[in-house]
Amino acid sequence: MKCNICEIGCELAEGKSGQCRMYINKNGQIIERFPNTYFTMFPVSIETVPLLHFYPRGKFLQVCTIGCNFKCEGCISEILASRLLSTNKKSGISNENVINKALDEDCIGIVFCLNDPAVSYFTFRDLAKKARQNNLLIGCSTNGYFTENALKELIPLIDFVNIGIKGYSDERYISCGARGSGPVFRNLKLLKESDVHVEVSTIYIKGSEDEVINSAKFVSSLSEDIPFQVMRFVPFGDAAPQIEPTIRESEGLCDKLTQYLNYVYLFNSPGTDHLNTVCPECSKIIFQREFFGPMGSRTLSYLPQGGCECSNPAFFRGEVSEVSHHEPGFMGGYRITRALEMIHAILVCLGIKDDHKLAEIWANVMETGYLEELHTSSQDLDSYFDVIEHFAALADRKKEGMELVAYMRKKLDFIRSVTNDIERPRVYYCMGYPLFALNGERIENNLVEAAGGESVNKLIDREGKPGVGISHNEFAEMNPVFIFISGFLSTPVSDSYAYCKKHGLSADALKNRRIYGLRPLWDFGSPRWILGLMYIANKLHPEKFNFDIDKEANQFYKRFYGVSFDSSRHNRSFYSVSSRQ
Ligand code: SF4
Repeated sequence: MKCNICEIGCELAEGKSGQCRMYINKNGQIIERFPNTYFTMFPVSIETVPLLHFYPRGKFLQVCTIGCNFKCEGCISEILASRLLSTNKKSGISNENVINKALDEDCIGIVFCLNDPAVSYFTFRDLAKKARQNNLLIGCSTNGYFTENALKELIPLIDFVNIGIKGYSDERYISCGARGSGPVFRNLKLLKESDVHVEVSTIYIKGSEDEVINSAKFVSSLSEDIPFQVMRFVPFGDAAPQIEPTIRESEGLCDKLTQYLNYVYLFNSPGTDHLNTVCPECSKIIFQREFFGPMGSRTLSYLPQGGCECSNPAFFRGEVSEVSHHEPGFMGGYRITRALEMIHAILVCLGIKDDHKLAEIWANVMETGYLEELHTSSQDLDSYFDVIEHFAALADRKKEGMELVAYMRKKLDFIRSVTNDIERPRVYYCMGYPLFALNGERIENNLVEAAGGESVNKLIDREGKPGVGISHNEFAEMNPVFIFISGFLSTPVSDSYAYCKKHGLSADALKNRRIYGLRPLWDFGSPRWILGLMYIANKLHPEKFNFDIDKEANQFYKRFYGVSFDSSRHNRSFYSVSSRQ
């Protein structure tokens, strides 16, 4: 029997599933395997979905299920898309719970995102009906691969959609397990003509500029006012690190796209100003935004009523919310996927390789509310060891947990014993561009202190997720002697110097050429921070430390990952240290 929900069009034999593994043919009927069941729900601001031209700063209830109809390389939601399918434990959150929660939390609407609603079609359709009955806005992020009929049934029920385009060519779609790109562009047109609010996000992989440019040209043929979000590709999963474009390259591409479209935005690029909405007529900044986690942004300021004198008043829908919503801990956008990957990163070091065990532990974390504790404990070097022990106990790997903690503890204690009474240089830690400062409380700054530096980030009295933009003056006042660039979302050191020059920044670190980039995930998100600590200690106090970093890495990788260290295969995955080449 053919499934007519998405254009992949699987043939499902009796009792069998299709590509997404989320439907089953039961007695000649296609039914959901996990109907009326969500994985999570929590309130977010709409810019973390992200949607930038729809009820700006509005509070929405974000929901997701599990599974996906696509299989894209380096997927940020790999956890939700595939790995969680291995567990039988489901949250029990129903459509009724979602509606009640949205009303209780004073949300103005509900957004289905993080995984694709095509895999929970009947549940989502029912939710949309219920949202309408309760005067709640409703929409989703989707790859837009619905069949025409399935989409036509949804259109009268939804208010907004963010279509995630994988590229323009059939080849790009085939590499994601789909049949070609045609259905997505057909659906985009249909949605736009049906007056659903549409924003488009597209992934930018290095070397695939034409895919993005051709997609932008198509979108502009529908309307040059459709917001176009460029997602700088960050190689997660087993994606090759070489296909990650730099922030600078991505900004260059965005500038080209403004030939075709009025509103082009760049994500996954801390410190960029390409997240602002600029009036296409007078170039005034209407909405000023900053990076707010993977695929996310937050509004910092905006012109009254969200417009300048000459801007088209209809460029966004709805009103600007007067109150902004602050997401606690890992909540908001795709951060929850990073939280689950942090757990995966520990479990891998304990020898847990099977998805079933992993999924069981993730389900436990969601059920017990441990995420909140993880958020705090994973920032502090000593309590990180408690986190390892917690998961070692859950995974029945206490011995392996003790071994990992003992190894890391020994290195940390040694470094601390040397830096105890040492003179401390001022150290600044950024993510992406130099003017995006990581929050003072974060692990990276705690590594700096353990390695014998004074973290100037701790002097900044504002916080974001995971940091805030700072002014030229703030940078000058801190006058760092060393600058480190995060190994999570990074920028080449040469680009950092160029950025500082362009912006007229000055600091001792620049005079003495002391900007250093951390290797991917050697400072956050995985136990590999112990290697980052040794690297930072070497740079801050070469008279005291002389760790042979490659040798240390090789020992650590062999012992806890079972592979040799190979820097050419280091992507931005938290759990994996060996990407596809
Ligand atoms: S939703 Fe798409 S991928 Fe899933 S079974 Fe149906 S046709 Fe196949």
